[in-house]
Amino acid sequence: MKLLKYLSLVALLLATGFTYAQEEETEERKPGHTNVNRFKQLYEEFSTPNVYRSANGAPGPQYYQQQADYVMDIVLDDQQSKISGFETITYTNNSPDVLEYLWVQLDQNVRQKDSKSPLIEGSGARSATMASSFVGDHMGTAFDGGFKIQAVKSAKGTDLDYIINQTMMRVEMPQNLKPGGKFSFSVRWWYNIPEHTVDRARSGYETFEDGNKGYVIAQFFPRMAVYSDVEGWQNSQFWGRDEFALPFGDYEVNITVPSDHVLDGTGVLTNRKDVFSKEMMNRYNEAKKAYEKPVIIVTQEEAETASKGFNRSTKTWKLKAENVRDFGFATSRRYIWDMMSVKIGDKDVMAVSMYPPEGNPLWEDYSTIVVASTLKSYSRMSFDYPYHKAISVHAKNQGMEYPMICWNYGRPDKDGTYSDRTKYGMMSVIIHEVGHNYFPMIVNSDERQWTWMDEGLNTFVQYVAEQDFGEWYPDAVAPNKAYPSRRGPANKIVNYMAGDQDRMAPIMSKGLNTYNFGANAYSKPATGLNILRETIMGRELFDYAFRTYSQRWMFKHPTPEDFFRTMEDASAVDLDWFWRAWFYSTDYTDIGVKEVKTFYVTSKMSKEVKEMMEQRGMTESDLPPLVYLIDKDSEDFEESMRTSTLADVPTLQAYIMDNVPADERANLKNPKFFYEVTFEKPGGIPMPIIAEYTYSDGSTKRITYPAEIWRKNDASVGKVIASEMEITKIMVDPDEETADIDTSNNSWPKRKKLGEFNKFKENVKGQ
Ligand SMILES: [Zn+2]
Repeated sequence: MKLLKYLSLVALLLATGFTYAQEEETEERKPGHTNVNRFKQLYEEFSTPNVYRSANGAPGPQYYQQQADYVMDIVLDDQQSKISGFETITYTNNSPDVLEYLWVQLDQNVRQKDSKSPLIEGSGARSATMASSFVGDHMGTAFDGGFKIQAVKSAKGTDLDYIINQTMMRVEMPQNLKPGGKFSFSVRWWYNIPEHTVDRARSGYETFEDGNKGYVIAQFFPRMAVYSDVEGWQNSQFWGRDEFALPFGDYEVNITVPSDHVLDGTGVLTNRKDVFSKEMMNRYNEAKKAYEKPVIIVTQEEAETASKGFNRSTKTWKLKAENVRDFGFATSRRYIWDMMSVKIGDKDVMAVSMYPPEGNPLWEDYSTIVVASTLKSYSRMSFDYPYHKAISVHAKNQGMEYPMICWNYGRPDKDGTYSDRTKYGMMSVIIHEVGHNYFPMIVNSDERQWTWMDEGLNTFVQYVAEQDFGEWYPDAVAPNKAYPSRRGPANKIVNYMAGDQDRMAPIMSKGLNTYNFGANAYSKPATGLNILRETIMGRELFDYAFRTYSQRWMFKHPTPEDFFRTMEDASAVDLDWFWRAWFYSTDYTDIGVKEVKTFYVTSKMSKEVKEMMEQRGMTESDLPPLVYLIDKDSEDFEESMRTSTLADVPTLQAYIMDNVPADERANLKNPKFFYEVTFEKPGGIPMPIIAEYTYSDGSTKRITYPAEIWRKNDASVGKVIASEMEITKIMVDPDEETADIDTSNNSWPKRKKLGEFNKFKENVKGQ
């Protein structure tokens, strides 16, 4: 420790009133902190910008995407729980490539008897869930699921060759599909609908106690795979957990169901007059003008009456959707139906809920207002909701999203009572699944490859929307309390981040390959974005950049780099270090106060300084009332005073002479206390140091040192603090906003472990 360095510091402090960063280059480096350039730009990790994707994160001048349009006739057999369809797909090749074949996704095939999905999971026979899957796998009658493909034909009606590899079907065309070309073909299919409450499928039916079924139907038709500039064909198999990559297209879907069913799904209902009763039509027109609370279109009484019968006649519901990436619908004779209008920009959007009586009173009270509130929040954070409706369907244990429609859990007990946990669980899942309309239904990222791009971004906006809901509907949440969000705030990710590194994957992993799916793909990216918004970038810069990303990529297919690049391009904040640490590694945050040296002040001028002044022809009157520091704890204090050179000191004295006019010298501030604070960083993630200094009069001052403070030394960094008042406490990250996994080193003086001395006394007594 070179004592005289502090002398010079003091002089500078006196002159400028600033603190001075002191790099501890000699600090011993910890393993794992050596030669780590955490601030290196991500050129090696990112793909090179090109004509399809620009360096600013926007679609490039030759960006393209494929189009898949569908015309489908669907028939639901309620008695057999079977669904059949005839679909015509028109595929447009907007790519510059010649395509020799087409890939079609057959997701239902994970339910085939010979599905390979169960074979990639390890298993044991002990746990309860293992036991239930064991019963399913080895003791029950295997469910005969999966697509039964009856015909694949060209528009002219000739059979096309195809091959099915698990959940993917390759279709051969009569000739190659040239750039700009279109190819139409048809598929005839049927399958047995799974009971989703039994085999945890994302779609299927639920059997109510009265024997009626509620159908939530999705991934139900052969769907085109994505072909893009990044992946070529995205023909990665569906194993059951990871979600989807789908191109945009227009849909015309006619769905035939029992005539006593109601139905809603993706798209505009084009034959409302044929399928609505006069009463329903009147109520629907009323709902268009209802902005405060929903209007019931089908009442609970009507649903319960319909549930008592079984109608063999059928009705066809016709839906038409433009520019959507998928299609889903829900139908039952046991559904209650309500709707209300919500203004988004200058447009009215219909917020809709469908639920069996089993969902009440919870669903009637909250579902539709939660949908409306969600659309407002998400539109503020990204872009105005472009579709005409958003539907929340109640299905037991479900939380799953499709364009304009989603399934959500949250069921009261049989007597109609429910816990706060059920209520907020229901509200949160509705916010989340309705939010998926934005990510990935409209900002159409590849869910199968990058789960975090839809789940993480969506969970982040979900947190914002939950807090909005609490503010906008204070009566719906506990009065005067914030909405109890489960994911978003930094302190909620700490347990996960502190966990076993061997059972962790970076966020930048394929969803299927992560260990803790919820924490890795939902909470961690959402929390990262929240830290960027609240701590690193600030709301103004973050929100502008996040909206820019959302608007640049709405109705397009973004990649992670498009997101990372846009966030920097639109904010002028270099975030490569943050992406590297939070998204590309499994490091955690841990920053603390390692050591604080207190310097005592004396007015005694040292012999060396006197000599220096003589050399420069100065007298004491040329200087303000200088103070000199003595670090009482320094072992080499005496030695240092004798041997150190005075190289720095004259410069600083000269600085005062040159820069501060004589009449001002006497007024220079005269701090009484000096602290050399050494911050340590046992964690791998560089984060801003948020330091709160508490003074002897109880006042506090907070200084945030940007993360770049770690750029030259990854393990520790020093700061000299000058103060007129004594500092009694230093606290790092006092509001727990950086996900610091170990707060035991966050304060100075160290918090004493309570009770230890008492315990010692007890022990002594006992012996
Ligand atoms: Zn989700």
